[in-house]
Amino acid sequence: AKASGRDRWAVFDEDMREQAGQILDLEADLRRAINGEGFVAFYQPIVRLADRQVIGHEALLRWRHERRGLLLPSEFIGVGEHSGLIEEVDWIMYRQVAEQLAKGGPGYISMNVSPRHFRASDFADRLLRLVEDSGADPQRLRIEITEVALLDDVPRALRTLQQLRGHGIMAQLDDFGTGYSALSYLHRFPIECLKIDQSFVAGLTGDSRPESVAVVRAIQALAGTLGIHTIGEGVETEEQRTALRELGCAHGQGYLFGRPAEAMAAVAGTAGVAH
Ligand code: C2E
Ligand code: CA
Ligand code: CA
Ligand code: CA
Repeated sequence: AKASGRDRWAVFDEDMREQAGQILDLEADLRRAINGEGFVAFYQPIVRLADRQVIGHEALLRWRHERRGLLLPSEFIGVGEHSGLIEEVDWIMYRQVAEQLAKGGPGYISMNVSPRHFRASDFADRLLRLVEDSGADPQRLRIEITEVALLDDVPRALRTLQQLRGHGIMAQLDDFGTGYSALSYLHRFPIECLKIDQSFVAGLTGDSRPESVAVVRAIQALAGTLGIHTIGEGVETEEQRTALRELGCAHGQGYLFGRPAEAMAAVAGTAGVAH
């Protein structure tokens, strides 16, 4: 029994070594990819739930890894954050989004800004310069941030959002309902919409239906008070689309309408037709 215990440890040890090795590999790869063209923006349509009309797209980061194929953010963002490299990857994304916007296309593009990034003192200046240099219309750009990014330093967050808003760039609150909401602060921020976290959308048709309905109802009431709209995230079924509409949510995003893809849904209204 003792021997097998030691064997188990030996195996565990090997696993850990291998895992640590993989993380180091990935970090080295990340550094190389930042100088190359490994990172691409995929675009997922955001639609009006009533008629699937495309109102915009969310840009989602993908890494085309030479050996491992297409990697999702969850497979490398931890490594990037750990090593501080994610900020550079974010700027690669912002540049791609700005270039895409400058080319035209339907609706707006929203992009994800990590809390750490949002808190950087030169974030708004840098973003505005990038947008100006690219020739993109700032009115067609949105940023997605989470509540954490707002609450840590309220005056600074307010300044940043007001500066961006002053130039036409609006902000959406991502994953709404999952954090501790500072409801009393929310009205002070120029926020364009609340993105209802996909866990609640999934819950609308699952076992936790009553709880999810209650949460979505509360978010809708809050949005109504603030005079802003909502987007249901992760809509996968017709049933969820109907449930969201009944609760007063007008916009949605999810596999039902289109998966993230390298090309944007070219013509308004075609989301969900070609899967
Ligand atoms: P998020 O901002 O909440 O993005 C939504 C995630 O839900 C995306 O995962 C999207 O592919 C996925 N999704 C969309 N529709 C459905 C659906 O119907 N069902 C399900 N199950 N999932 C759906 P993804 O692309 O893997 O991104 C994960 C997270 O990584 C994002 O969550 C965001 O927090 C972060 N992220 C993505 N791109 C960037 C980026 O450029 N910069 C930063 N800092 N973070 C990013
Ligand atoms: Ca997002
Ligand atoms: Ca989200
Ligand atoms: Ca999320």
